[in-house]
Amino acid sequence: MRLPHHPLVASQLLAIFHESSTIVFLEQQFDLVVIGSGPGGYVAAIKAAQLGLKTACVEKNATYGGTCLNVGCIPSKAMLHNSHLYHMAQHGELKKRGIEFQNVSLNLPVFLKQKDDAVKGLTSGVAYLFKSNKVTGVRGHGSISGAGEVTVKKEDGSSETLKTKNILIAVGSEVTPFPGITIDEESIVSSTGALSLKQVPKKMVLIGAGVIGLELGSVWSRLGADVTCVEFLSNIGGVGIDMEVSKAFQKILTKQGLKFKLDTKVTGAEKSGDSIRVNVEGAKGGNGETLDCDTLLVCIGRRPYTKELGLDSVGIQLDKRGRIEVDKNFQTACKGIYAIGDCIQGPMLAHKAEDEGIICVESIATGHEPHIDYNCVPSVIYTYPEVSWIGKSEEQLKQEGIKYKVGRFPMAANSRAKTINEAEGFVKVLSDAKTDRILGVHMINSVAGELINEAALAMEYGASCEDVARVCHAHPTWSESLKEANLQAYFGKAINFT
Ligand SMILES: Cc1cc2nc3c(=O)[nH]c(=O)nc-3n(C[C@H](O)[C@H](O)[C@H](O)COP(=O)(O)OP(=O)(O)OC[C@H]3O[C@@H](n4cnc5c(N)ncnc54)[C@H](O)[C@@H]3O)c2cc1C
Repeated sequence: MRLPHHPLVASQLLAIFHESSTIVFLEQQFDLVVIGSGPGGYVAAIKAAQLGLKTACVEKNATYGGTCLNVGCIPSKAMLHNSHLYHMAQHGELKKRGIEFQNVSLNLPVFLKQKDDAVKGLTSGVAYLFKSNKVTGVRGHGSISGAGEVTVKKEDGSSETLKTKNILIAVGSEVTPFPGITIDEESIVSSTGALSLKQVPKKMVLIGAGVIGLELGSVWSRLGADVTCVEFLSNIGGVGIDMEVSKAFQKILTKQGLKFKLDTKVTGAEKSGDSIRVNVEGAKGGNGETLDCDTLLVCIGRRPYTKELGLDSVGIQLDKRGRIEVDKNFQTACKGIYAIGDCIQGPMLAHKAEDEGIICVESIATGHEPHIDYNCVPSVIYTYPEVSWIGKSEEQLKQEGIKYKVGRFPMAANSRAKTINEAEGFVKVLSDAKTDRILGVHMINSVAGELINEAALAMEYGASCEDVARVCHAHPTWSESLKEANLQAYFGKAINFT
């Protein structure tokens, strides 16, 4: 009787045999099996292995990295960056700086290839990190077949059972479909199809002016599409954005050519030949209207993906929004089974999933209680200019009856921004009127996605505005605008702006 070739050492491998000695399936014993290799799952698996847990990570897709690396954060940022460069070249921004050339044109296949190469590099990077950290990567669809047991169905129809002390569910999310609109990923696309359109649309209608919609709408608008965003809410930028920032943001995007229909709902869409008719009406009813386009981008959000996960077999329930319920240790109703990331409550963000993954496995390995302050999770919209925020908005502070002070600093008064002609936007700091503690930071400027991390650090350490304003900041840098906004909040006056 011969064991099949298998890369694992004998102690990891339990082969189960029929009486006839043919192999039915293989069992492996782990300390932790992570289901899903998105930013939540892969980071958790690496951390767990670094902490000495024998760890496997199961992934149903051909590549690791989940939504974020394959069809989310990474490809969208590649396209945002390159479409911004194209737009600067096309609309005279580079000429103004003395950089002259003729005949700017777009090579869409090359443009998309750069994005694909970035994705390929980073997803294969995860495979490399698994190898170097001794995480066992297992390809196939994982489902919980009992406490301490994950069964992996492979593409070739075979299955493998992983025995484990702990299971971490990190299965993420999928695109929320729009009732009555069939996504074909050709001309009626989700965020995934919008990452690979074969040509620049002439007219694009975008349903949903939230973070993902505005990023992808911006990409195709910069490449030449006439983009109309239909949004049910009265503002753009989604939930949590400060209204002052949202209004300024809308003005800037409108100047760039995007059109907005706010307080408007889509009631349906019909495709006829190459053309799509999108029916809309007021959010509270009212006059109907039809918008014609050749590409419809549906971006109304994401929902947890928990298909065929075997949750019933261990008594794990979902809440009304399809999310797995967990306690403060990220443990589900079943002891030894944990969940993190997009499939549980909280903002659907890669860095939130990563942080949860790390503290969850630290807690499994050490027994220490995990801690995360969701008020200190930053949000970023990677348009141009970028928008970012952390903590409470002015609207939230008002609603909660908290007395606050405001410090603002315009980028037009920031020497670095002014020097390189990127002076749109501002930084706004909200602080406790009594204690001066920073309660929220909101900004719109060309580097808001980087600058917000200084605010996150300050807030994590419970800093006051005076603390930040007294920190020596290098000159000339954008971050001096954050320092000045803090100075304005606590002292009432900035230096470079009155
Ligand atoms: C276009 C777009 C842009 C985005 N941009 C940003 C951004 O800039 N910044 C940001 O923070 N967030 C961004 N996001 C959101 C971000 O991608 C998600 O919040 C993040 O990926 C969630 O991580 P996760 O690990 O929870 O799940 P996912 O990344 O969704 O990973 C889950 C993984 O689990 C696998 N899986 C599911 N079920 C099983 C199973 N039963 N067996 C095996 N494998 C399974 C899936 O195949 C997937 O690989 C963006 C999303 C989109 C769509």
